[in-house]
Amino acid sequence: MKSSNFLIDYQCPQCGAPAVLDETDRLFFCEYCRVKSYLITKDYFRYTLPSKAPENKKLLYFPYWRFKGMLFSCGSDGVRQKFIDVSHQAVNSHFFPISVGFRSQALKLKFVTPDTEGRFLEPDQPFEKVMNIFEERFKGSLPKPVFHQAHIGESLSLIYSPFYVNNRVYDAVLNEPVTSSLPDDFDESNFSGGRPDWQIGFLPTLCPECGWDLEGRRDSLVLICKNCDSLWRPDGKKFEKLLFAHIPEKEKNIIYLPFWRIRADVSEIDLRSYADMVRFANLPKVVQPEFSDIKFSFWSPAFKVRPQTFLPLAQKMTLSQPQGKLIYKLPVSELYPVTLPFSEAIETLKINLAGFMKPRKKLLPKLSDKSYLLVYVPFIEKHHELIELSSNFAITKNQLKMASNL
Ligand SMILES: [Zn+2]
Ligand SMILES: [Zn+2]
Repeated sequence: MKSSNFLIDYQCPQCGAPAVLDETDRLFFCEYCRVKSYLITKDYFRYTLPSKAPENKKLLYFPYWRFKGMLFSCGSDGVRQKFIDVSHQAVNSHFFPISVGFRSQALKLKFVTPDTEGRFLEPDQPFEKVMNIFEERFKGSLPKPVFHQAHIGESLSLIYSPFYVNNRVYDAVLNEPVTSSLPDDFDESNFSGGRPDWQIGFLPTLCPECGWDLEGRRDSLVLICKNCDSLWRPDGKKFEKLLFAHIPEKEKNIIYLPFWRIRADVSEIDLRSYADMVRFANLPKVVQPEFSDIKFSFWSPAFKVRPQTFLPLAQKMTLSQPQGKLIYKLPVSELYPVTLPFSEAIETLKINLAGFMKPRKKLLPKLSDKSYLLVYVPFIEKHHELIELSSNFAITKNQLKMASNL
């Protein structure tokens, strides 16, 4: 898999000590002042590439969308998936390179700050429009018809790359021209932009309820308070309490993996109970009367794993509708961190449906009244893999290890 995280030059917000972060880091622990903080943004993180421009040059920061995630496409022969790691112009212009290229992986980035010198061009291409280009490209390589596509992006950001103009457009990262001479009427002030008005935010990692130190892995999207048994995730400028439960298990060597259990009203199809699902997916199962009383839920992993595993796991869990009694407390065993947010898990629902529906056809259901619960599901730890007990689904440890690059 061709992917890697880029690195970010950072300064501890408490003591100013320098640090290098990984792109997926959220929980920052400063080795100098021992203070932990949690990085937040209201939408997506914004970075700049370093400039090597001569000193007197006025910098123009050109924005690129950067997306790293999974593309799924459902056709008559099943669901195909692909992992992509791409960047694309967020301002439509043929004077600038179409993408950042591979430079972002070789160079350290910085977070945009309001005092970064230079003019920041304002994106005029919405991310969804750029995403369509990638989806169409993927679709083009697949057998027709394609019933449904989804992108599940764990990582969306804006990278500003510096340029300057001196009869030609120069790439300030390389200090090399990217265009031949510019037309006479080229005027950089035609691009709207100005000073950057974005700044990274951070939260102290203290439990809002009891003041205890919150815990988590550096890329965790949900933090844990072991003192008052609560889970917290950032919501705007504060931590918000998250409802959760676990399925108890008496076996030894258990590790709990997090899943989003999602209930939604699905238009066009009757999918309210387990019985409805057995019919809809044409499962080789006799519908028992009590199946009608079991409420149907979608299940999605709440952690990143390669797309070849992600969707089959979501489907297996959805088709098995785990029925174990839920305990609304933290289990004692090890918890695997939440690295895929609920907002992305929602994107899996339609592709999940499209994948198990028999026979396959075009469906455009609307999902409304969504409610969710984070459920920790027990997996038995074997030598090389983790196995889910009710479905026997196995995830290799290596896949989880590799997932930190996704
Ligand atoms: Zn510090
Ligand atoms: Zn607490």
